[in-house]
This record gives sequence, structure tokens and C-alpha cells, in this order.
Amino acid sequence: FRRNPGETEFHQAVVEVFDSLGPVLLKHPEFVDAAVLERLCEPERQIIFRVPWVDDAGTVQINRGFRVEFNSALGPFKGGLRFHPSVYLGIVKFLGFEQVFKNALTGMPIGGGKGGSDFDPKGKSDAEVMRFCQAFMTELYRHIGEYTDVPAGDIGVGGREIGYLFGQYKRITNRYESGVLTGKGISWGGSLVRPEATGYGAVLFAREMLRTRGLGFEGQRVIVSGAGNVAVHAIAKAQHFGATVVACSDSSGYVVDEAGIDVELLREVKEHERGRISEYADRRGAGAHFVAGGSIWDVGATVALPCATQNELDEAAAGALVRSGVLAVAEGANMPCTPEAVEVLQQAGVLFGPGKAANAGGVATSALEMQQNASRDSWSFEHTEQRLTEIMVGIHDRCAATADEYGVPGNYVAGANISGFVKVADAMLALGVV
Ligand code: NDP
Repeated sequence: FRRNPGETEFHQAVVEVFDSLGPVLLKHPEFVDAAVLERLCEPERQIIFRVPWVDDAGTVQINRGFRVEFNSALGPFKGGLRFHPSVYLGIVKFLGFEQVFKNALTGMPIGGGKGGSDFDPKGKSDAEVMRFCQAFMTELYRHIGEYTDVPAGDIGVGGREIGYLFGQYKRITNRYESGVLTGKGISWGGSLVRPEATGYGAVLFAREMLRTRGLGFEGQRVIVSGAGNVAVHAIAKAQHFGATVVACSDSSGYVVDEAGIDVELLREVKEHERGRISEYADRRGAGAHFVAGGSIWDVGATVALPCATQNELDEAAAGALVRSGVLAVAEGANMPCTPEAVEVLQQAGVLFGPGKAANAGGVATSALEMQQNASRDSWSFEHTEQRLTEIMVGIHDRCAATADEYGVPGNYVAGANISGFVKVADAMLALGVV
């Protein structure tokens, strides 16, 4: 805490992981001797840079760019870029720290990193977003590469931004290095299923948790928070499996639609028109209504998938969900549940899938995109989705088996933390003090 003052989200993420590790360290004193925990908390490299760009009015704007290269014991640094006004070092480090364990859990050869900027894409023209992305990449390009560090998208960074970033990387380096970024468009090196992967993966993880109690998604009443990349695909998949998604949100409030969210309309409003969620309710008609602000979790559900942002589901929200009979909560977003909320859910016997396991489908499919780029191949949707499904089932089973092994059956938080940690720690030990 003294070493990293003010980085509250980073502290939260570290405490959450370390809380699970006592039994592992007793079993493996060699990790303590090699200062693995201390090394894990210190990123291998942290880059903070100025991003100057010119807006449509001709005014010079300055933003701050970050790339935190956290741990490369298992492979090149891998993790997304977030463009949001709330971004500062503490957020990038929390995300990068989580990413190390998440990537280990996927079983793919990828290390962990994260980056972004306090740039707010909301309300900016395409040309402004392009100029910002070009300025951002003009510094970032020297730190990344197919074998070094492979960024992707996150909040505020989707296909449009990845396109501008890739274009600038290609221009500066004079290399068509497809493997330097993931989340690319299909016609220029992207992978089918990558846009869907995080949301689909969260639903697949929740399905596996429900299965342990002899249940499925059929007939479940689901809340998905957010209306971005992760949320829309989680909604689509949950409804494909027979659930009804009754509510979703953005930062202005939430909509309730008891007939089930119309995914096409939602995508039209949020993805194509970049509009507000209230417009969904306006256009959907009688069945749906918009609530400004408030807590989406008060709507009540049997399955909850928080897919918006960190600390969006607190103790009171967890209490409301428990009272409404929630059976399972799977984190599509990173750290959306506060520690107090997780405690409430676990105490009530709710199946709880932490983000580093439940939302790992996105980065896993990014690794599949890297495989396709390396072999200059592109796989079918069916094949890629099949791989994603196998990966998510594998992550679920690994978490469950590890929780059993350490005497906390059904505790996916402990299972994910321990399983991810042991994999990274073993590699760090093998690689020596570096
Ligand atoms: P997007 O930018 O596509 O969407 C984010 C959504 O969350 C938007 O609808 C946004 O609303 C909403 N939102 C943001 N803050 C709040 C808030 N305080 N209350 C309610 N809604 C809010 O991002 P992604 O879908 O890509 O990412 C969502 C989460 O998933 C993040 O935690 C991210 O780290 C995580 N994640 C993403 C992966 C990916 O593949 N994209 C992979 C793994 C994790 P508004 O439009 O109003 O801003």
C-alpha cells in the first residue's frame, strides 16, 4: 500500500487474490523463498506517455496514455486498452494484475498486461477518434509486437479504434504484423467469434456452474448490466439458451423489458448509433421502460451477469439479488462485484464466477486470433466457437477441481486464484530471478 499510494482498485485486486493463497504458500514454501508474491505485484514495465492531438475545432488536446506490462512468464504481455475518463494508473494496474491470472487460467501461452487512456470517445467525431488513436500509437508502437506485447480492446475500444491503431502501427513500422493487436476486423486479420467471445464465454461459464446443481439457462430470469460489447453478446447467448433477459443498462440508467431484450434493437441503438439506453425503451414501445440512475439489480433475477464496469454491484445490490432468489452470478466485467457483495453472495450459497474465470473467453479467443495470424489461416465460426466452448468448460472444471483440492468445494474465487497463481508461479520459478 505504501509503495503504490492511492491505487485503490489495484489494492483491491491484489487483496482479493492474496486472500486465497495461504494454503498454497504452506504447500509450496519455494514460492515464498523466491519472492514470487512480491515480484507478481511489481509490473515488469510501466509506460506513461503524453498523447497530444487536435480536435475538430483545431484545439490541441492532451491526454495521458498508459501501458503496464505486468508479467510475461507465460508468454507475451496480453490485455486490452481502455479509453475512459476514469482511467489512471490504479485502474490499469488492477486490470493488468487480474489479467496475469486470467490468462494463465485459459491454458494459452500469454502473459498479462493492460493499457489505455483517460480519453473519452463519447461525443467525439470519427475523425477525432482516429487522430487520437494515431497519436496514441505513435508512442505505443515502440513497446509492442507480436512476440512482445499484444494489446486488444476494452471499455471504449472496439473494432473502430483497433482499426485506427493498427493502421498507424502499420504505417510507422512498415510491417503488416497482424499478430500485434487482436480484435481486428475479419477482412484484415481478425478472428470470427472474437467480438462475441467475452459475453458468450461468461454465459458458458454460468451454464457450467448451473449444471453442477442440475440446472440450465432454460426459463431463467436474467439481468445483464451494461450495453456494450460484452453485455450484448451475453444477452444474445443467454436468450439463445432459453433464458429471458429482463434488464440491461448503460451509465445513464437501465431498461426493464419483461418480454426479453430485443438484441437487434439494442445493437442498433448502442452499437451503430452510439445512442443512450433510454432510446431503446422509447423505440421498443409499451413493454419496456427506462429508469434513470438507480440500481438495475433491484429488478430481481435468478441469474445475474454484471458486464459493465468495476464495483458496479455492491453489498446492497447483492442483498437485493439474494432476496429475489438469485442462483448464479458470473462476472462478465472485470471486478464488477465489491468484496462485500461477493461475501454476501457466497454466504447465501449463490454460485459465484469471478471475472478472471468467467470473462476469460475474450482473451482466450484473442489467443486463437494470434494462432490464426501466425499460421496465416482463418477458421470458421463453428470451429472457433467450439474451441471457445471447450476452453470455458476447461476453465470451469479447473477452478472447480482446484477448489476441491484445497478443501473449499464450490468456491470458484479460490479455485481461479489458486489455479492461475500456481501456473504463473511455477513458470516464474523455472525462469529464475528475472
Ligand atoms: P464497452 O465500452 O463496449 O461497454 C461498456 C458498457 O458498460 C457501456 O454500455 C457503458 O455505458 C456501460 N457502463 C460503463 N460504466 C457504467 C456504470 N457505471 N453503470 C452502468 N453501465 C456502465 O466495454 P466492454 O463491453 O468491452 O467491457 C465491459 C467490461 O468487460 C469491462 O469491465 C471490461 O474490462 C470487461 N472485459 C471486456 C472484454 C472484452 O473482450 N471487451 C474482455 C474481458 C473483460 P455507456 O455507454 O453509458 O458508457
